[in-house]
Amino acid sequence: MRRLDRETVDRIAAGEVVTRPARVVEELVENALDAGAERVDVAVTGGGEERIRVADDGRGMSREAATLAVERHTTSKLPDGDLRAVETLGFRGEALASIADVATLELTTNDGGPRGTRVRVADGDVRVDAAGRGRGTTVEVTDLFHNRPARRESLAAPATEFERISDRVAAYALLRPAVAISLDHDGRRTFATPGSGAFEDAALSVYGREVARESTTLDAEARVEVGDGDASVGIDGVLAYPSVTRASAAHVRVAINGRPVAMPAIRRAVERGYGSLLSGDRHPVVALSVSLPPRAVDPNVHPTKERVALRSADAVAAAVEDAVADALSTADLRRSADVAM
Ligand code: ADP
Ligand code: MG
Repeated sequence: MRRLDRETVDRIAAGEVVTRPARVVEELVENALDAGAERVDVAVTGGGEERIRVADDGRGMSREAATLAVERHTTSKLPDGDLRAVETLGFRGEALASIADVATLELTTNDGGPRGTRVRVADGDVRVDAAGRGRGTTVEVTDLFHNRPARRESLAAPATEFERISDRVAAYALLRPAVAISLDHDGRRTFATPGSGAFEDAALSVYGREVARESTTLDAEARVEVGDGDASVGIDGVLAYPSVTRASAAHVRVAINGRPVAMPAIRRAVERGYGSLLSGDRHPVVALSVSLPPRAVDPNVHPTKERVALRSADAVAAAVEDAVADALSTADLRRSADVAM
């Protein structure tokens, strides 16, 4: 755990981290994945403004680390202070502190020692206690924006805020199939993936049998020019057949190196891969994980972290389009062969 130096802090784009409940969920889930969790359980009450809890079985924190973690600009994810070397999802060291500014935050954690630690931050007051808990971390955020009436006012109805949360958790669940990810809302289970590593298992859990039956998996590799030579690009995921479409493009989900991103250029490449199979203004259901060597990615320092800058973005998009088109044409052949037999 270390404090970022001034220069690094300045290189991190200024901006508010916590704008709505879904952002809190995103930051907490990313922290859990960065901690190497194999299970992440998310529970939400209301639209998240009442309560958000994220529990993981990751590596946890020592008492010292947990106490530092809720302070601004502390991170354990920049070993040499070099933003370019970052491969983990988070690195700005401000999420927990920013959340604690606008909510009550309780963090219970254990790094494998005989006893755990509870850090509670409420109204700027920090209390540290011993707590029983197995290895891992639970973060509970309550009364979000209780001290920011204008922000609270600007939230949509709880059902709408929960939809945003559900969409974000679904993105991680679909794009990180090796992690068992669950989402509960007001005490009821929304979905839970098995963490088997198979994209089709995650799609079955999130979308149900009908979509899963009408889907095929994709596992391709391409070589892409990234300026200083070739790089190998892995393209894995699950694609629903054109028999399953949606009115919105929100179900075309893409991760770059494990991080869900909003990149219209890649989404359009996916849709070009479907070609004329997509009719009119319909969009497919897709979860695609693109893996690139770090040197092909510029670290994203935008506060919402939704975009990454790719070197040779066009070449990556072309590789994605080809991989999607290939997977669909092979799948179609196999399906018609099934029918013929
Ligand atoms: P960042 O993720 O950018 O480092 P955060 O404020 O999100 O900043 O977290 C601060 C630090 O707290 C992290 O660098 C990490 O060391 C620790 N941390 C946060 N959440 C977890 C977690 N779920 N498991 C283990 N460590 C965590
Ligand atoms: Mg973080």
